[in-house]
Amino acid sequence: MDIKVTRASKLKAKPSGGDLPFGVHYSDHMFILDYDEDKGWHDARIEPYAPLTLDPAAMCLHYAQAVFEGLKAYRGADKKIRLFRADANARRMDASHERLCIPRLPETAFLEAVEAIVRFESDWVPSEPGTSLYIRPYTFATEPHLGVRPSKTYKFMIILSPVGSYYPEGINPIKILIEDEYVRAVRGGVGFVKAAANYAISLKGQEKALGLGYTQTLWLDGVKREYIEEIGTTNAFFKIDGELVTPELSGSILPGITRDTIITLAGSWGLPVSQRPLTVAEVYDASAEGKLEEAFASGTAAVISPVSEFNWAGRVITVSNGETGKTARKLYNEITGMQYGDIEDKFGWVRTL
Ligand SMILES: *Cc1c(COP(=O)(O)O)cnc(C)c1O
Repeated sequence: MDIKVTRASKLKAKPSGGDLPFGVHYSDHMFILDYDEDKGWHDARIEPYAPLTLDPAAMCLHYAQAVFEGLKAYRGADKKIRLFRADANARRMDASHERLCIPRLPETAFLEAVEAIVRFESDWVPSEPGTSLYIRPYTFATEPHLGVRPSKTYKFMIILSPVGSYYPEGINPIKILIEDEYVRAVRGGVGFVKAAANYAISLKGQEKALGLGYTQTLWLDGVKREYIEEIGTTNAFFKIDGELVTPELSGSILPGITRDTIITLAGSWGLPVSQRPLTVAEVYDASAEGKLEEAFASGTAAVISPVSEFNWAGRVITVSNGETGKTARKLYNEITGMQYGDIEDKFGWVRTL
């Protein structure tokens, strides 16, 4: 891919590593790739970070034909920059394109673009412990057209945002409201891809949880509201009677890369792992019998978020005495250790730039 570069005439002052709230600061440049029917994906370029010009009839604004990814670049103590399983993000992005009728984006184009913009903006990868550069690739429909059909033009872009440690004061357990009114996704819909529409759908439930003093929503299946699907924008894990259990990928659950990493790692330790349908009732029964050892959420942003409390229609249970469980802590240390280059990567997941 030939990437044309236009440099910003003035660079921004970099925020300090101690002051990096999630998704607030953006680097000096962005990556753009255009699509039209004649040329396909074309005109790869790095440009100064700036507002876009968009036709008011651009289809993304009306019909939500928009998808995204999220990954991070990590700077180790050796000052080297690492990506973690970016090829999996490339495959998931392509799957998101496919589901939303957006022209396919080859894995190699995605990876080349991510590596090019991260290398170009390498000064923006912070070095304080636990910090990283969040990478946000996204594609949206740009054709000016009213009427529901796939757009004929698109933009694939990447912006970069330095982010602080998710747990500046150590891993913090979260309180979860089990949502039995609103649902996030149903089988046959778009819940298994990173479609922008999924997140608009989730806002109402999230607002409700926050209003009741909870950190996040646990989503149930959209048909029976009995089966556990996800926790907010992260995957859900439970340790029940010595076994790690996570809902199977049913078509309405996002196949998290952290989820897959946990399944692989735990398996390599000899910990039994099961991907299967799991009801809230089973989790509550396990708790009553003293067999619910841990519960945690997994995703790129926080890696692991232990759950201290669930509320299901007013029935409250506490998990691991409200503390971070052993498995959650071990997984967190192992995964972040690989990401920052402190622990050897035996799986071929890390790519040093
Ligand atoms: C992104 C996301 C996840 C986590 O995926 P990772 O690849 O682990 O970051 C889980 N659930 C939803 C709904 C998501 O959007």
